Amino acid sequence: MRITPLASGSAGNSFLLQADSASILIDAGLTAKQITLRLGCVGVDPASLSGIIVSHGHSDHVKGVGVLSRKYKLPVWMNRGTWDVACSSLGELHRLQFFETGKVFNIDGLRVHPFSVPHDCADPVGFRITYGTAKIGIATDLGLATNLVQTVLTGLQVVVIESNHDPKMLRDGPYPWELKQRVQGRLGHLSNQASARLLERIFSDELRAVILAHVSQINNLPELALESARNCLGEFLANDGTLYCASQDEVGETIEW
Ligand SMILES: [Zn+2]
Ligand SMILES: [Zn+2]
Repeated sequence: MRITPLASGSAGNSFLLQADSASILIDAGLTAKQITLRLGCVGVDPASLSGIIVSHGHSDHVKGVGVLSRKYKLPVWMNRGTWDVACSSLGELHRLQFFETGKVFNIDGLRVHPFSVPHDCADPVGFRITYGTAKIGIATDLGLATNLVQTVLTGLQVVVIESNHDPKMLRDGPYPWELKQRVQGRLGHLSNQASARLLERIFSDELRAVILAHVSQINNLPELALESARNCLGEFLANDGTLYCASQDEVGETIEW
């Protein structure tokens, strides 16, 4: 499999996952035009995709879904909670397919397991996806790393995990008080420290790459997110594990395994 972050952060999230038999977008939270441009950077024609899977209904995850689906005739998978939240902004989709949180489904040979995460939206999920022996987990918006999240993300080769904010930068930053409370709450976003603790708990000998995601451009710095993760990943890094932050503005490095 190959994973390429097209964008990640509060202004839009999208990841390209490719296997021999299928290529999908995990979320499409930039405009369709931006996503098409970024796919072009890695030589992918949007019309060649197998479809889009959607984690939850916040606009930074769904912004481009409707246009991409209609323009390139792409099927879209989401749960009913996400559809209820986002249907008015998505409009009609080429082929809408509902998945049930917790139930594995198939997309052209990819086995997709949507799992529940605590976040302030209707029925938000992360995804664990397997193809043969290749396994990846992605959880970009979660306020708390529950036991379920820990269990599902253990034993994978690649994980994409939120490392949203530095608590001190959030506290001293420009967000209004209510928003600060929301971000750091149990239904908000993971801090660098909470993310690092989760990494420590899910570490296994199989782990080869960690991509830090949803790094705030206002309440965090990539260096702080990386430093915090490095402190918990000594053995992983000593064994040539790859660690980097997905960027809001640029297509990230492709990980292939
Ligand atoms: Zn969200
Ligand atoms: Zn988000």
